[in-house]
This record gives sequence, structure tokens and C-alpha cells, in this order.
Amino acid sequence: MAKAPVSLESLRDSFGPHPAYVPPGGWQSESRNPAGHLVKTHCCFCGQQCGIQLKVRGNQVIGFEPWEEFPFNHGMLCPKGVKRYMQGGHPDRLLDPLMRTPEGFRKASWDESLNFTVARLKEVQEKYGKDSVAIYGGASLISEKSYLLGKFARVALGTRHIDYNGRLCMVSAGVAYKLAFGVDRSPLPWSDILKAQVVLVAGANVAECAPITTDYLWRCRDAGGKLIIVDPRMTPICRNADMYLPVRPGTDMALYMGLLHVILRDGLERRDFISKYTTGFEQVADSVRAWDPRTAGEKTGVPPEAIERAAHLFAKADRAIALHARGVEHQSKGVENCLALINLCLATGNLGREGAGCAMITGQGNGQGGREHGQKCDQLPGQRSISDPEARAHTAKVWGITPDEIPQAGYSAVEIMEAIHRGEIKALLSCCFNPLVSLPDSKFTQEALEKLEFFGVVDFFMSETAHHADVVLAGSLQEEEEGIGCTNEGRVIHIQKAVDPPGNAKGDSWIYVELAKRLGKGKFFPYDSTKEIYEELREASRGGHADYFGITYEKIDQNMGIFWPCPTLDHPGTPRLFEDGHSFHPDGKHHFVVTEWRESGDPVSAEFPIYLTTGRVVSQYLSGTQTRRIGALLDQYPNPRLEIHPRLAEQYKIKEGDWVTITSRRNEITLQAMVVKTIRPDTVFIPYHWAGERSANKLTHRTLDPRSKIPEFKVSACQLRKAEAPPDWAIAANGNDAKGGDKADARLRVLR
Ligand code: SF4
Repeated sequence: MAKAPVSLESLRDSFGPHPAYVPPGGWQSESRNPAGHLVKTHCCFCGQQCGIQLKVRGNQVIGFEPWEEFPFNHGMLCPKGVKRYMQGGHPDRLLDPLMRTPEGFRKASWDESLNFTVARLKEVQEKYGKDSVAIYGGASLISEKSYLLGKFARVALGTRHIDYNGRLCMVSAGVAYKLAFGVDRSPLPWSDILKAQVVLVAGANVAECAPITTDYLWRCRDAGGKLIIVDPRMTPICRNADMYLPVRPGTDMALYMGLLHVILRDGLERRDFISKYTTGFEQVADSVRAWDPRTAGEKTGVPPEAIERAAHLFAKADRAIALHARGVEHQSKGVENCLALINLCLATGNLGREGAGCAMITGQGNGQGGREHGQKCDQLPGQRSISDPEARAHTAKVWGITPDEIPQAGYSAVEIMEAIHRGEIKALLSCCFNPLVSLPDSKFTQEALEKLEFFGVVDFFMSETAHHADVVLAGSLQEEEEGIGCTNEGRVIHIQKAVDPPGNAKGDSWIYVELAKRLGKGKFFPYDSTKEIYEELREASRGGHADYFGITYEKIDQNMGIFWPCPTLDHPGTPRLFEDGHSFHPDGKHHFVVTEWRESGDPVSAEFPIYLTTGRVVSQYLSGTQTRRIGALLDQYPNPRLEIHPRLAEQYKIKEGDWVTITSRRNEITLQAMVVKTIRPDTVFIPYHWAGERSANKLTHRTLDPRSKIPEFKVSACQLRKAEAPPDWAIAANGNDAKGGDKADARLRVLR
């Protein structure tokens, strides 16, 4: 059974997270001990994938230099990029395979750990069938690994259940873009933002989650562009906004239908564009007729006059862009929210031109590329549908199997955990995914993990989820394997290998190839390098929507990235989609899609009267497995805090720094209050990067968007009460601090 073998305290003592404050080998004078060389590559964190030069000495990344020529970020980096080099020689780094014992974990050889993993997977499949095993992947993995995982699940294990943590990121946008345009990619390069006259930023805390995009918005404003921000919180970018629309959590779609209502009522739509390039307009026009500004205002909390003004500002611009992110996508109607924004762009003719269109801001490092080549439960490489007979035939030919041997679509990420909980899936192999922190309703996740008959993990640090593993296979950081990724612009980039994995750690791709060999499927995985995997990926993607065939590592280097689709070696790539007016749908049209209002899955009530929304802070990344280990980043924001408006705080007699218990229909946590005027008075906010008693996802719920299967992280209902005392975790941290405990625990101290 996959229960943690010993206490969590003991596991944390052994494996961290321990924040590191000095680089590997300590601070060293460059003049006395110069770096060996610089490697031009990319940041390993968010979907901006900024260019960076890693400074390498021996087999260690010891620092960085800006890469000023890289056209996306021109050398700029956010705090995470600046500190990413602290991971490689980190004391918590896993250097050997580990196997669980009653006392915790012990080191094992690769032979022992891999043979054990294969034996357990086989045993489970023989007993319960092929689909009793599931694979989890990560959206920060290079595309070669994503491709490899998809093939490994379907060819080596023969299971239909593979999905990835990108399911928690932007799949709502992906589904919406496929419905509207037939393809899942932002249609424009970020340089278009500079040319827009109006940019509407919907549910995107760009300053903290996609910091370099802030620079694009600033430059747009410097050139005279107007900025409209839609968010329940006045995030930092609001300081530069011309309009701020404080939408009530979960009501975004009503706002966009209200905007479209005004545009159509006042005849501001572009009839020539609509009739020439689109279908479905009349149905959408009918559907927004009821959403006059007063109705939309009542639903969303945005004043009707602001809706009128924003609609006119957006529609009267010659070039307008709608940028959106998790605020609208992390909802049980995330797909509709995105579609409502797309409908706005289509109605105003904003598509396929410089400075015009819509775009999703990718959250995870390779969130875009990681979902294009087979890591999603319903897709094959090249963004092909797994249920499409032609796609199956093409992929099967590349893989050297018959189409019938490719399993059909499996469960998505949350559905996999639910299937584990009900006993349908018995074994899980997970790569760089920390579901105990990332998935909603973490008590449910923990119960599910404890029911697994086998749980294997591939990772470079021991995540909280890995505490439950039977075996932990020490894998690789981004800079330890060569490959490609795809940025939020659709730009395919080259991730350079800077160093080898340290100690006995191995490249993730080597681990999966070895597992495949030991499963008796080695002939399908004949790779000696990630480049060989990429060559096969190019062929597998050929002819698909995400066609990478014309993209080589060398071509990427020569051009600082190539935008897909790129079908031939002499093709320059496609920075802006739809310039010829045509979509990827067989009819070549862009499709308006009707959006229907519905309530969120965890509605506020008399008992749970307050909206809870969750998100990121600039210094942390996702579940914090990496960034909670970097001291300088942790110091910037050591613990999650409850953001609360002064009016709501007053109602509960809460003052700055008070401890507050937040209770949802599932669980409760106690955090310190941060009283701020930058949030709606009916809403509280908690960042989600922490585990255990500090985990925001103890409170969230498992309602999924029916089409994208994304959980509704952005809208839960909660109640508040002032806590009488700090929680145990804070008291324990204070105790350690008073006793001169180590720096890790000092970081947990109470803030006042
Ligand atoms: S985290 Fe994102 S914005 Fe920050 S440096 Fe890395 S890629 Fe750039």
C-alpha cells in the first residue's frame, strides 16, 4: 500500500524541502575561478520560456548571464529565472534510485529499482488488466519526453490511461481554440501585442505569473495602446490599466456576453469579416440578446456603464487583442469563458492580422508543447485525435504497430485519481508531477494514493507525493537533457544540455527506455539520445496540425526558434496563424460557438458565503517542488497568506496578521491574514504552492469542465472565522526557530 512509510516530519528531515541559500560549492570569485562556458538555453519554469545563458563550471550550473539577443525576453528574467541555477547541486537533489522500507527509503541500484518497477507493473496488469496502470506526465518536460511517455503508455504498457499536469493549466483554452479555429495554439506572436490599440487581459495576473508579458503590455501602452483588465483582484498590472473590471469569481462568461451584447446592439460588429470568414454568428447573436449591461452587471458585479465603455473601447479599435489565462480557464465553464472571448474577437474582426486576435498565456514551462505530442489522454502526436482512424493509422505506422494496438482515449488527470480512489486503477507511474499539492481536494488525493498497489515516481527532488511511492527513480533537471519545447507564442525552442545528471541520477528518457526494454518492448524504443526521439517525433507529427516535420534543432538555433506549423525543411514557420483568413477546420471557417450560462460547481450559500480563489505568487512555481527549495525565492513569500479586503476583514474582526481559519465544504486550513484593498470584498485569495496544512487545495473541489476536464480552482465557496491560536505548523516552526532550528524551519516562523 502506498502510505508514507514513516512520519512526514522524518521524510522532510531527510529529503526536504530545505531552502538553499548558496550555489553549489559556495560563492566563488569569478576572477579566481572563472566559469568554464556559457550555454544558451531557456528558463525551466513558466510558459514564457525566456532565453537565458547558463554558466557552467565542470559538471555544474553555477550561475547565469542574460541572453540579450533572444527576441522574446531580450535578456530580461523574473526572480525565478534568476535563481533557477540553485537547483542542480542542491542538497535535496536525488542522486540514486530509492526504494521504500518500513523505516523510510533506502538507496538501490538501477537494476534493482527498474526490475522491481517492471515486475510490479506486470503483476498488476496480469491481475487486473492493462488499463489498471496509469501514467502521469509533466508539462515542464521537454517535448521529446512528453512524446516518449505517450508512446511508453500505449506501446510498452498498452494502457489507455496517460495524462499530465497540464490538465491543470490551460486545457480549457486548448479545447475552445479547437472548437473555434480547429487548432490548439495562440494565433499570434507576442510582438503583436506591441501593435494593438486595445488589449483586454482576462483572468491573467501577468505581473506574477507571466512577468515578461508585462513588458509587452507596458510597451503597448507607451505606443498609445489602451489596457482593460478583468479580474476579481487588482493585480499589479492594474496600475497601468485604463479600465479595471472587478468581475465576481465564476461570472466571466456573463461579462463577455454582455460586452458582445453592447457591440451588436450598437452595430459595432464587422459584418464583412463575419460573413466572409465565420459560421455560427446568428446563433451567438441570439444567445447574447438577453445579456444587456444591467443583467450582465448584476451577475458579474461590474457596473453596467463600465461594460458599455469597455465594449466600445474594444470594438472601436482597429486592432484589439484579448489575452487570457487561468482566471477564466480554471472554471467548470472554462471552455465557454474562452469561447466567449473568441466570439468577441470574431465579431469585431480581430484575427489573422498584426496586432489583432486572441491568445492564451501558457502557465507551465512546456505547457504548449507538452500537450501536442501524445501526453494527453485523447491525443496522438501532432495534436491528432486518438479517435481519428487516419491519425491512428499514421501514428501506428511510425511506431511500427497496427492501429488496433493503440488504445483508445483514457481518463484525464483528475479522473485518473478518481479511478484510483474507487479501485479501478491499481498502479501509477508518475514523472515530475506532484498531485498531492496540485490536484484539487487534496484529502481525496491522499486517500487515493494510499489505495495504490504500486506507485512509482520519476523525479529529481522528493515531492510530497513521492513520499507515498514504492520506488523513486532519480531523474533529470531540464538542463540535463537536450530537447525542444514550445512557448506560449507557438515558438519551438531548443533546450540545450548543459550538464550530465549528478551522482547516479539519470536522464528521464533513459529511465523510460530502460523500463520499456525490461517490459520486453525494447525494439520499439531504439533510442540512444533525445535527438533520435525528436527525429521520430518530427515524423509522427508530420501532416498533423502541430506539424514539426520542418523543424530541426539546427534550424531552431539559426532562427532563435521556429513557429509551428512548419511542414517542410524549407518552410519558415508560421508566427501568425490565419493570415489567409482560413481556420484549420475542414470548412476553413472560424466558428462562433454559443456559450450558455451556468453556475459554478461549488456555489456560495448562506453557510459558505465567500468566494475563494487561488493562484500564484511571482517567487513560486506550481507545486513548489523546485522553488520551495530556493532560499531567496522562499524568503520573498515564505508562507501562503489569506488576501482579504478591509471591509470583509472588518466584518469578521480580522486585522492584518491575524490567524484565520478558512473552511470549505471539504476541509479547513488556518493562515495569516493580509488585509488588502486590491481584492473584491466578497472574495478571498490564497496562493497554492504549499503542501499539507498550508495547502490551498485542501479547500478546492473536484468539479471539472465537462469538455476540458480542468478543475475549478478559481471558484470555491468558503466561510471564515478568526482563529484563537496559530496552527500547529506555525507553532512548531516558531519552536524550531527559537531553538536555533535550521534555516528551513526558520522560514516558517510567524510573520509578526
Ligand atoms: S519563470 Fe517565466 S518569466 Fe520568469 S524567467 Fe522563467 S520563463 Fe521567464
